[in-house]
Amino acid sequence: MMEYDVPTQADNAILTFDVVNVRAAFPILHQQVHGKPLAYLDSAATSQKPTCVIEAIDDYYRRYNSNVHRGVHKLAEEATHEYEQARVKIARFIGSPSHTQIVYTRGTTESINLVASAWGDANVGEGDEVLVTHMEHHSNIVPWQMLCKRTGATLVVAPIDKTGTLVMDAFERQLTERTKVVAVAHVSNALGTINPIERIIELAHGVGAVVVVDGAQAVPHMQVNVEALDADFYAFSGHKMCGPTGIGVLYGKADRLEAMGPYQGGGDMIKSVTFKHTEYNDVPYRFEAGTPNIVGGIGLGVAVDYLTGVGMDKIAAYEHELLEYGTAALQQIDGLRLIGTADRKAGVLSFVLDGIHPYDMAPILDRQGVAVRTGHHCAQPVMDFFGVPATARASLAFYNTRAEIDQLFVALKKAKEMLA
Ligand code: PLP
Repeated sequence: MMEYDVPTQADNAILTFDVVNVRAAFPILHQQVHGKPLAYLDSAATSQKPTCVIEAIDDYYRRYNSNVHRGVHKLAEEATHEYEQARVKIARFIGSPSHTQIVYTRGTTESINLVASAWGDANVGEGDEVLVTHMEHHSNIVPWQMLCKRTGATLVVAPIDKTGTLVMDAFERQLTERTKVVAVAHVSNALGTINPIERIIELAHGVGAVVVVDGAQAVPHMQVNVEALDADFYAFSGHKMCGPTGIGVLYGKADRLEAMGPYQGGGDMIKSVTFKHTEYNDVPYRFEAGTPNIVGGIGLGVAVDYLTGVGMDKIAAYEHELLEYGTAALQQIDGLRLIGTADRKAGVLSFVLDGIHPYDMAPILDRQGVAVRTGHHCAQPVMDFFGVPATARASLAFYNTRAEIDQLFVALKKAKEMLA
């Protein structure tokens, strides 16, 4: 037991969740770094992968590597089947009414760029506004800035308060008939804030705006139902949810996707091509030009099965209690300031230590086996708002333990002794 107070209710979720069994599925976690047990607290950057995902990737390349959609031989048929079955699983996982509303992309970044280009160019013009929030990841700022530059629309930014909570009154006032799109994170990667996404979507629809949700930090940590949310578009990345890198998803409402032209041109996104005219393919293939990340899709399907098996509700409850435990721990450290203290938070602990630059802290933590991220977390406007150049960020997943938080606590004390 460490020297800080622990919220008592934390015990329930932590004790009923079989984290030892969960950890057994992640080979990478069982290693030493600089002679210390690894405490991987960087899952917001990328999650670790369970054996079933690693084996599915291996199996594909060893047994049935082949291109999809075109071949009629056995290997091509199996690859196509597995790749398309994964799309069905992903649709079910996020409550999409149909697998045809699941567009494979490289990740959240590409999903948002796809909407900004294929939907934005056709629907946003001079005098229109794109409303984002101050807590967005660069991936949900820059594509909209680029769209505004191309079209003459204006980027409007909804403010946050000093806890890192979206100021809803201001957001509501900024919504007008000029607002064509609201692009908002479900969960902030730099602060952990969980936005009231249902209300945001409802309000945005009230002025006729289309809502694009950046779900990169939500889908891995809670049950998301895109249909219940009524999101127009919802973007997320496979690698943050136990899947491979280089694969992600754009969910879209059927009528929105149907009305959109293609994103990139090439093979697979067409029905027929002559030099005079090209007929585009049906949704979602219309948005998937070229040979896709086949093994990525298959691996993501296996990751989705795995997460479903563990249970998203259990994952959310366990991570929440771990967050409370971690918050209580960090608050005991003199001179530590948490950046992001919203009432509703996911498992992100961003912080700064008085008089110590995060970049000096990180190597000391690393020597103690603790993997955290330091930097602006691709959210420079958040850093500017809090008046810090960078933060250290410990981000939690369901395979983390209290012992790892204790290890972070001890490592931070050591960093203080050495640097303060
Ligand atoms: N949005 C949020 C909130 C994120 O945390 C991230 C990645 O950290 C992204 C978008 C970009 O995701 P990707 O790099 O997988 O495209």
